Amino acid sequence: MADKKKKSGKGKVKRPIIKLMCEECKRAYYSTRKNPTNTPDRLAFKKFCPICHKRTLHKETK
Ligand SMILES: [Zn+2]
Repeated sequence: MADKKKKSGKGKVKRPIIKLMCEECKRAYYSTRKNPTNTPDRLAFKKFCPICHKRTLHKETK
């Protein structure tokens, strides 16, 4: 009997790397991964921007 068992359930979820662009200088200094299934909305983090030398809002970009 050559009955192959199919793996069911957890498949590989694609987690694309996204860039976080500074709202003020428009530079993508940070990158992160997200699960599009859990987080369909655009991400936005407050992070320290080394170009602006302060904490700014970093928004998800492509
Ligand atoms: Zn900046």
